[in-house]
Amino acid sequence: MTQESAEVAPPGVNINVPHSARIYDYWLGGKDNFAVDRAVGEAMMKAIPAMRYMAGENRKFVHRAARDLVAKEGIRQFLDIGTGIPTRPNLHEIAQKLAPETRVVYVDNDPIVLVHARALMISTDEGRSEYISADIRKPQSILTEQVLTETLDLTEPVGLTLIAILMLLADADDPWSLVAQLRDAMPSGSILGITHPTADFNPEAVGEAVSAATSAGMTLVARTREEVERFFGDWEMLEPGLVPVSAWRPDEPVENPEAAYYWAGVARKP
Ligand code: SAH
Repeated sequence: MTQESAEVAPPGVNINVPHSARIYDYWLGGKDNFAVDRAVGEAMMKAIPAMRYMAGENRKFVHRAARDLVAKEGIRQFLDIGTGIPTRPNLHEIAQKLAPETRVVYVDNDPIVLVHARALMISTDEGRSEYISADIRKPQSILTEQVLTETLDLTEPVGLTLIAILMLLADADDPWSLVAQLRDAMPSGSILGITHPTADFNPEAVGEAVSAATSAGMTLVARTREEVERFFGDWEMLEPGLVPVSAWRPDEPVENPEAAYYWAGVARKP
């Protein structure tokens, strides 16, 4: 029996088509990926040999942003859309370590993430961590979901995190309007954190990686700095602005921040 045929899919999980959550898990060294995901993941790594480094830099941004939102901005509740397969430390683990009362609602539309949602729901006693299976293309369905309204107080500032998800939405889905609907539902003082892959630093390699994904039937859109900036609307960018992901408040000086092809930014609602 080959390794591939030995793989068993959990209920609802289709192992015949590649899924972004599982490809990302593969790059991060996780075990929740299948042959079809590894094939696309490898093809993309041919175009961008630093892909694993990029995924790691994106995760490190999640850690630094969660830390600063709690410690410096006083955020005590998060809405994280496009959560991915749990990867420790998860956002709520970082936030609750600093402020145990923090409440987090995770959202993803991939059945494999739902399979692992329990790992995301292990909360401190003082706080809460919940999971909603929903699609960002239906923002109102997320905002009105009972689990959300019972967990988050939308009259108090929310940390809204859209980390490496928006590139999975086609321009035809108008991701700017979807993000605007989410921004509009948040009260003043809320914070929006976004990372988004870009071809700005290396058009050729990123173009090839995008082709590898799209020829496997996936939607993947690299966006320019200006296109990513528009996701923040009129919210005020916090220091250091919209920058390469490794350059967002790095713990140690980074030699070549443009080696990870992601824009990252954090902004506050006036
Ligand atoms: N935010 C995590 C994981 C990124 S992988 C991190 O940066 O570490 C992107 C995730 O977005 C995947 O888990 C995928 O299932 C999810 N996703 C893609 N399209 C989505 C949609 N339309 N609605 C909700 N989640 C989506």
